[in-house]
Amino acid sequence: MTDRQPGFSTLAIHAGAQPDPTTGARATPIYQTTSFVFNDADHAASLFGLQAFGNIYTRIGNPTNAVLEERVAALEGGTAALAVASGHAAQVVALQMLLKPGDEFIAARKLYGGSINQFSHAFKSFGWNVVWADTDDIASFERAVTPHTKAIFIESIANPGGTVTDIEAIAAVARKAGVPLIVDNTLASPYLIRPIDHGADIVLHSLTKFLGGHGNSIGGIIVDAGTFDWSKDGKYPILSEPRPEYHGIRLQETFGNFAFAIACRVLALRDLGPALSPFNAFMILTGIETLPLRMQKHCDNAKAIAEWLAVHPAVAAVNYAGLAGDKYNNLARKYCPKGAGAVFTISLKGGYDAGVKLVSKLQLFSHLANVGDTRSLVIHPASTTHSQLDDAQKTKSGAGPDVVRLSIGIEDKEDLIADLEQALA
Ligand SMILES: *Cc1c(COP(=O)(O)O)cnc(C)c1O
Repeated sequence: MTDRQPGFSTLAIHAGAQPDPTTGARATPIYQTTSFVFNDADHAASLFGLQAFGNIYTRIGNPTNAVLEERVAALEGGTAALAVASGHAAQVVALQMLLKPGDEFIAARKLYGGSINQFSHAFKSFGWNVVWADTDDIASFERAVTPHTKAIFIESIANPGGTVTDIEAIAAVARKAGVPLIVDNTLASPYLIRPIDHGADIVLHSLTKFLGGHGNSIGGIIVDAGTFDWSKDGKYPILSEPRPEYHGIRLQETFGNFAFAIACRVLALRDLGPALSPFNAFMILTGIETLPLRMQKHCDNAKAIAEWLAVHPAVAAVNYAGLAGDKYNNLARKYCPKGAGAVFTISLKGGYDAGVKLVSKLQLFSHLANVGDTRSLVIHPASTTHSQLDDAQKTKSGAGPDVVRLSIGIEDKEDLIADLEQALA
């Protein structure tokens, strides 16, 4: 072994994994077990008291999941990670460690439709108040800051429009406000953007999408950048104050730059319970091994198809940050020079009816509510994912009635273009 820093593709295959110490198995085994035998009573007590690291019960941790956690932390440049049952579970678990009833967090209005619902309804019922801001107007984030603000939440590349967010500008607002910046990096994946390099304190993923990549497993992950000082002004007592259930230890004092990941595991995941199945962790790990190859092909196909659509007579507009004239092209060049992702929207001249008709005529594209599969996918957000929003919210979040969202897969682009051509005709 040399002391070279391994590159991204090497980490995607090797980070966190070693041949299984008992059997020599080279692929990471699926440790399909609920619980783990203690060496002796002292060992059990030290695990429960957080004085030693080890496996207790799969709701709190599992060796297959641990490989996934270490791998994604390495790819994102974080100190540690926690895998959970879904992207939405990652959002609940992370925010539960930061907010108490009556607190606020600021969120970008351009977000995954499910996140808009989760923040507006479920989180509201917990007393966590979302305050919306606009990523096209950085000052709107500054204006939204109050003494109750505990976090800022954005997407690096935002669903559904594929718009690129100025992470550094919003990180500056978060730093000034003394709150962590949380970046949902699902649509970019760390192959295209590493938000921690641009000032993010916490990175979240729906592993369901490009990281798993094959449309077969739901999962989520929280990555701790290790950058935030949780103790400096008493705003985050869960991390800075003694924990009664763990003999009065203070999490940041004890665990330093991975205290947030530990808190998410030993408090939020332990108590809320959305554990990731080791089987899903195995599927997602296998997907991550080819992330760099897949992501590049996704982006190359998406760019070619966006260029083809941009000159099609039935198409009013293509919103893809990878296109030279796009409003977000400068941000794409800065934050994701390898490609602007594979999810974008088009507006059809024929409006709502044309959108509904297009999704029903496409054959190779699957009409469903997902993105980031090897297969190409299509949806009409206004009649599906974003249908719960009112018209103003729909348009503000990039899901107006004439908008169709595409998630470009890794098939041959000529076949995808032929399918679009017949459906648009
Ligand atoms: C899908 C998605 C989520 C939610 O993830 P699940 O795994 O479906 O719970 C969150 N954010 C973004 C950007 C997504 O695309």
